[in-house]
Amino acid sequence: MPDMTPGVASALSPLVRRIVAPNPGLMTGPGTNTYLVGIDEVAVIDPGPDDAGHIEAIVGASMRERIRWILVTHHHIDHSAGVARLKRATDAEIVAFGPPKSAAKSDAGADWAPDRKAQDGEVIEGTEWGLEVLHTPGHASDHLCFFLEEERVLFTGDTVLSGTTAVINPPDGDMAAYLQSLERLRKRRLTRLCPGHGDVLDEPKAILADYVAHRIERENQILEALTAGPSKVTDLVAKIYVDTPEALHDMAGRSVLAHLQKLKAEGRVSGRDVNSVWKVA
Ligand SMILES: [Zn+2]
Repeated sequence: MPDMTPGVASALSPLVRRIVAPNPGLMTGPGTNTYLVGIDEVAVIDPGPDDAGHIEAIVGASMRERIRWILVTHHHIDHSAGVARLKRATDAEIVAFGPPKSAAKSDAGADWAPDRKAQDGEVIEGTEWGLEVLHTPGHASDHLCFFLEEERVLFTGDTVLSGTTAVINPPDGDMAAYLQSLERLRKRRLTRLCPGHGDVLDEPKAILADYVAHRIERENQILEALTAGPSKVTDLVAKIYVDTPEALHDMAGRSVLAHLQKLKAEGRVSGRDVNSVWKVA
């Protein structure tokens, strides 16, 4: 298994290297993955947190004049806070879909804005590679995945993770959009997934199928619980997330709310917000 020690650039394939940021945690697993794509011309996918040592490791691993693009999967602080510092060190072009106007400062981290707004379907062309940009809202409204054409590798950001759960946190997180994004990714022929957190996933087809199945199962559990009786989000979490550590119950509640909002839009349940009582329509 390639090295996951923070600060060490490890080669995952001829074109891809990874440096894990020193921000391990409940939501970030071993830390945020920063990917370096290319050799002559490098695109950095997700600078990670605003950590001087980590940004130095990125610049040091790729001789500063070669970093041409800073690509951001989404605005969350563990992925984007280092953008400004990496920009100062490299003057590379920042390409992102966000941050969304509604993003809180505490969410989006240090001040940054894209030099150019990413377009769904565009291809960023390095000398020896092409990265297709896929707008994949769900985890965040500005979420992007990047598809490396030469190796058929997909950089999934937080849409698909390894070892941790993708949280869908409304209002910026959107369960219906998330499921549509997963279905879109399933249509691609892929060799591997490089997630925003955790190690490389080598069976994209099975993993993506599991992700969709897991969400459908949750949705069914919620509908079943509501059929048994009207419930608040906290009751649903206690009933459904029996195997999930207490510490994650708040985040689980956000995902339950996201499911409820999707079901409400479909006319299948009624309720108002995280504090109200929900019931089947
Ligand atoms: Zn993340």
